[in-house]
Amino acid sequence: MIIVKDLHKSFEDNQVLKGVNYHIHPGEKIVVVGPSGSGKSTTASLIPRFYDAQAGSIKIGGVDIRSIAHPDLMKMVAFVFQDPKLFKDSLFENIRAGRPSATREEVMRAAHLAQCDDILAKFPKGIDTVVGSKGVYLSGGETQRIAIARAILKDAPIIVLDEATAYADPENEQQIQQAFEGLTKGKTVIMIAHRLSTVQDADQILVMRQGELVESGRHNELVKKNGEYARMWENYTKTTQWHIGNEVKVR
Ligand code: ADP
Ligand code: MG
Repeated sequence: MIIVKDLHKSFEDNQVLKGVNYHIHPGEKIVVVGPSGSGKSTTASLIPRFYDAQAGSIKIGGVDIRSIAHPDLMKMVAFVFQDPKLFKDSLFENIRAGRPSATREEVMRAAHLAQCDDILAKFPKGIDTVVGSKGVYLSGGETQRIAIARAILKDAPIIVLDEATAYADPENEQQIQQAFEGLTKGKTVIMIAHRLSTVQDADQILVMRQGELVESGRHNELVKKNGEYARMWENYTKTTQWHIGNEVKVR
């Protein structure tokens, strides 16, 4: 169980989190939604301790994460953030970084589960292609899939996912959704969603506004409540209908 208690986080005089509380049972999938700048990514970044909060605490299995040794915390949490960077080495090594003791077969399987087969097929050297070398270009969505493969290989019990804000194309988005499924199966998941396309099956939706958690619950409960989330959902369904009406590919 992850217990998040009264988190306060400021960057200089910008108060980004103003007392955030939530908890996640093992195996639950939590989705965080809210406008840009509301503190979603900050909330997620505190779990792997990219930085610490000024006040409040996060406990995993009853233990404050500040008293868990860094390598142990890293074993518990896999994360994929919005704009992952790859290092200048082969795709193989970029994925294997998730678990350095993994075999080539395990690396290939993680790549497959993360929907990377078409990326590998683009290059004559496949998974041994060196990133950043001549003629090797990966889009943001492709880079995120490689990062997902790395996280799959790591096989940590807790997954923190920050969806990219924009994908170049809907096809990439669909592949990323499938890759997410490969990653999150059977895990405890906290996912920052920028679109509402994947929230309906979440165990808990946290709605953030200006550094505060304003609503939480399941999709149906929140729609019934007719508050902030219901408005977001209405907007979301309106835009998808608008797309349908204009024969734009529906996501
Ligand atoms: P969201 O993910 O909901 O869009 P963020 O958590 O990324 O929101 O950001 C919330 C606020 O915190 C924004 O005003 C942003 O500029 C600020 N912020 C986030 N990270 C940093 C940082 N490392 N340094 C300074 N300000 C930051
Ligand atoms: Mg964000």
